[in-house]
Amino acid sequence: MEYIAAKDPDEVTAALADGDTVVLAGGQSLVLDVTNHALCPARVVDINAVAEFELLTETEGVLRAGPLVRHRTFESDAVGGALGAMLRTVVRHIGHPPIRARGTMAGSLAYAHPAAEWPVLAVILGAELELVTERGRRTVPAERFFTGSFTTVRRPDELLAEVRLPLLPAGTGAGFAEHRPARAKFAETAAMAAVTVVDGLITTALIGLVNAGPCPVRARAAEQVLRGAPFSDAAIRAAAEAAAELDADLSALPAGDRPAKQRAVRMLTRRALTQAREGL
Ligand SMILES: Cc1cc2nc3c(=O)[nH]c(=O)nc-3n(C[C@H](O)[C@H](O)[C@H](O)COP(=O)(O)OP(=O)(O)OC[C@H]3O[C@@H](n4cnc5c(N)ncnc54)[C@H](O)[C@@H]3O)c2cc1C
Repeated sequence: MEYIAAKDPDEVTAALADGDTVVLAGGQSLVLDVTNHALCPARVVDINAVAEFELLTETEGVLRAGPLVRHRTFESDAVGGALGAMLRTVVRHIGHPPIRARGTMAGSLAYAHPAAEWPVLAVILGAELELVTERGRRTVPAERFFTGSFTTVRRPDELLAEVRLPLLPAGTGAGFAEHRPARAKFAETAAMAAVTVVDGLITTALIGLVNAGPCPVRARAAEQVLRGAPFSDAAIRAAAEAAAELDADLSALPAGDRPAKQRAVRMLTRRALTQAREGL
């Protein structure tokens, strides 16, 4: 396997042009895949020395994160406001500190693990993902980026060059709850929520389910239950019920495993929403 240490963005896209080169970002998934022979690329292009890729900026209501923005960045107050609070709520559930110190948000999206947190967050927030090649660039909404477990619409010669997350309005509370067997493991199931309340009524509810389907799940039925309602215990219970009954995509699970997954979705959605209410 050839190793290329890129120094600028053009070197990265030039290396990717042959379609048999993979990006090395944080290496927290790639190195394991190569070690386990799950992946045997001809070349690896290491992007860690490309300073521009560390860019994290806020412009015109959008947070823009380059391909080297590490999970850990979102643990700090680097991002303010309600979006910063949502990112801080979610990020501490990703692996453990050494993984968060190296792993990147863009790498997690490109990898598309069905139990990863960032893909779900990107989908529910309506993120846009910029894909770049030597020949040009295109922008894909996160909702259309993920096509299944570990699969996305990204072509082999495309670098995920920027993640754009819309800022959240003031008056938004964030919540996250997961069932995870051990700290060094992905969540078995998790739920996250960002809920905006104006004059005592919910104006926007964004709810996502982790590892409750082959693709990140946006719990639209649960969101619908909450829209326009007071943020009451009854509304939370009804939304959690909708998430479990209508939103979770359990089609790939053996029938015998579905009731337990539904129970987990119901309980975790309820907890995530309760935490979001407490955060208002
Ligand atoms: C023990 C353990 C526990 C973990 N627990 C969790 C968890 O709970 N939640 C969670 O979400 N993740 C978890 N992870 C995964 C971690 O978040 C990884 O950091 C993440 O999946 C990949 O990011 P990376 O920057 O390390 O990417 P890499 O490992 O460098 O790359 C992963 C894949 O994405 C491609 N890639 C990376 N960046 C780009 C880019 N910019 N453009 C195009 N392709 C790119 C690579 O070529 C490779 O195929 C865990 C990992 C380990 C080892």
